Amino acid sequence: MKTLEELEFDNRFARLGDDFSTPVQPKPIDNPRLVVVSDEAMALLDLNRAEAEKTVFTELFSGHKLWDTAEPRAMVYSGHQFGSYNPRLGDGRGLLLGEVVNDAGEHWDLHLKGAGMTPYSRMGDGRAVLRSSIREFLASEALHALGIPTSRALCVTGSTTQVVRERLETGAMVLRLAQSHIRFGHFEYFYYTQRHDLLDILGQHVLEWHYPHCLGQPEPYVAFFREVVERNAELIAYWQAYGFCHGVMNTDNMSILGITFDFGPYAFLDDFDANFICNHSDYSGRYSYSNQVPIAHWNLAALAQTLTPKIPTETLKATLDLFLPLYQTHYQALMRRRLGLVTEQADDATLIERLLGLMQGSSVDYTLFFRRLGEEAPVQALEALRNDFIDLSGFDAWSKLYLARVEKEGSDQSARRSRMHGVNPLYILRNYLAQQAIEQAEAGNYEEVRLLHKVLTRPFESQAGCDRFAQRPPDWGKHLEISCSS
Ligand code: AMP
Ligand code: MG
Repeated sequence: MKTLEELEFDNRFARLGDDFSTPVQPKPIDNPRLVVVSDEAMALLDLNRAEAEKTVFTELFSGHKLWDTAEPRAMVYSGHQFGSYNPRLGDGRGLLLGEVVNDAGEHWDLHLKGAGMTPYSRMGDGRAVLRSSIREFLASEALHALGIPTSRALCVTGSTTQVVRERLETGAMVLRLAQSHIRFGHFEYFYYTQRHDLLDILGQHVLEWHYPHCLGQPEPYVAFFREVVERNAELIAYWQAYGFCHGVMNTDNMSILGITFDFGPYAFLDDFDANFICNHSDYSGRYSYSNQVPIAHWNLAALAQTLTPKIPTETLKATLDLFLPLYQTHYQALMRRRLGLVTEQADDATLIERLLGLMQGSSVDYTLFFRRLGEEAPVQALEALRNDFIDLSGFDAWSKLYLARVEKEGSDQSARRSRMHGVNPLYILRNYLAQQAIEQAEAGNYEEVRLLHKVLTRPFESQAGCDRFAQRPPDWGKHLEISCSS
């Protein structure tokens, strides 16, 4: 374990030079205070939990202090936003402070979001508000606890700095951790500016540090692209299986590592709704829950375009064609697990689709359905769940199919229960729970954010006194409009 002063930096991305990023010093926020910290994320940096109690911790993560060996830089990238190409984006309000090497030899990017203006700020103020910083923190750590690949969050620092959004709010910073902050949009930037020499350097960097095993392959770029497709197929399968809606799947928000990244106005489904749109600025529903699958494929095609100087078009197309079948394989495996099924059968897809079709019409809570299905023996569980469905004959027909499957597999109820509870969370980051915690934090009380974070780090375990976190939303908490201006 280390102290903050003992962190070691090795800033590989900064060494790529000024074509890739611009040196910028963080601009501090006033009267910083620690809102919430993740012990697990501290451990990734080998940091002792006690370090978070030091004044210097909050100073470091609010722009007041910096390690001598950090090299804060704003990265340049571009990307397709809602389907249209934006030739220049970049870190407009976040800075890559540097890369910390932990004792296991892993590099972790320290990215401070809300750190002030950069050459890429465009019309923005370079700030992030407390609300959105808390939301990113909670989602990162909640997704991780569910076993879903994601960037991580070390802490949120609040302040008294005023920030203008639809209303006056206070500025905050969230310290994001990821093994890389390289996005699809980085590749697009160098491809469309026709700096193919720099595109090569970027590609080599990614291969060397993030896909080193591909370098040993006969065609490293092909192996790399194939793996990006594979990782995304698995990632999106997780999102769909657990009802996570990202909100802004622009190519600049897609990580080259295949992890959940750069959260927008995200949401986890409460009631199951295939057409759910969590971003209220997404008028056409481009990034609706069910569109996440074709959109991920579209985004991979956008990345493929930037690899045309390296990979023949036919190979790129054939690799892209792997996405959907791979996605379906992962998705069905995850859903079988959620249903407590252990064997793979020809009609799995139909069994899953029919269930979701029934849920869709009946406003069934997506998370609690699976939890309750495992709680009791199948017959009893189905009987209790039946009341939630409007189409009773449809549900009865589905139950019959499901029971036939379960009986054929014949597993003992206590084994079934622990297997299902191990994959079906009791607690999920519902928007209304985040909203309640945020309102208290905005009033200066951080207890609820900290408690919610704690509960969500063990989503599969029933925790004493935490029943209120395992409830369907009250009427006011359904379909909250989450602002894109964060
Ligand atoms: P996001 O929607 O957070 O993924 O951001 C899209 C682009 O807008 C990125 O280039 C951000 O850096 C930039 N951006 C978003 N909000 C701000 C802000 N308040 N100040 C400066 N740039 C911003
Ligand atoms: Mg972004």
